[in-house]
Amino acid sequence: MPLRRNRRRLPLPRWLRLLTAIAACLAQVAASCAPAGPPPPAADSLRVYFLNVGQGDAALIITPDGVTALVDGGDRFRGAELVKWLRSIGLQKLDWVMPSHPHADHIAGLNLVLEELPVSNALLSAQANDTQTYRRQLDLLREKGVPVTDAVEGLTIPLGGHVTATVLNPPAGLLRTSEPEEDNSVVLRVCIAVNCMLFTGDIGDGGERSMIARYGTAPERIRSQVLKVSHHGSAEPNHPDFLTMVQPDVALIGAGLTNPFRHPSQKALNRLGASGAAIYCTFVHGTLLVELTESTYRVQQMRDLAIRPTSRGRVVPAPPLSPEPCRAQ
Ligand SMILES: [Zn+2]
Repeated sequence: MPLRRNRRRLPLPRWLRLLTAIAACLAQVAASCAPAGPPPPAADSLRVYFLNVGQGDAALIITPDGVTALVDGGDRFRGAELVKWLRSIGLQKLDWVMPSHPHADHIAGLNLVLEELPVSNALLSAQANDTQTYRRQLDLLREKGVPVTDAVEGLTIPLGGHVTATVLNPPAGLLRTSEPEEDNSVVLRVCIAVNCMLFTGDIGDGGERSMIARYGTAPERIRSQVLKVSHHGSAEPNHPDFLTMVQPDVALIGAGLTNPFRHPSQKALNRLGASGAAIYCTFVHGTLLVELTESTYRVQQMRDLAIRPTSRGRVVPAPPLSPEPCRAQ
């Protein structure tokens, strides 16, 4: 029979009991202060925050299952605020980053996000770019061990149940156009049942023509209630034939006030208006929250992400529910 040693429990010294009590108390306080995780999505709601990042694009998708995807991350002037904002809504990590194409107004801010937050997956256009910003992005993805998926037409991205996310551009082998970086932008259609939002990056005339050719006979594959307007509302894309295929009810434009590119153009605004879409611009309406459910969708104005001026277009705080129309610059 094994010898059982009878251990007598000695009472803890008073100072140690006090220390233990303080540690337990601090742990409780820390727990109550800790971010509670991403804002709990409504059970059936797909949320897209279309962020006011001045002259650039950035959108955060949160699916009903809580899967998060950051589509673009604005320019380098917005990166720190973007990280701060993501943390402020309780995000300590991202499931996906999805830079539409390798231009600085979409990825320089995203690089800061990659530096600061753990990221599980990246969806990239295979179209390379010879810039320091793009090389930095690839280095960061490699350093952090983030698995990279090349976007190609037909690919579906797992964003949890209830939601389907399909890549519509670029096609296999990429497009050979005069503006390959823009035209090979990742075009992503994210749907909950029949309600969809289309992200178009900066596809230009060549990319859009290719999409008209590829989807013209099957527009149901591209039709979307909410359209992230291509290339900040520039005049080259946003062709009436493209808009006829998409049939957007709502068009969102990311642009900075008094930006040097004069985005959006009056021509694009006219075409979008003629398509019947309600048009919202970040430089007028600020950050917008799109909520899509299986049966409906709505767009709301949010408190702004940033109000500091940048060198490439001022970011202004938006008045709540501004009736002001989106205007050309
Ligand atoms: Zn851009």
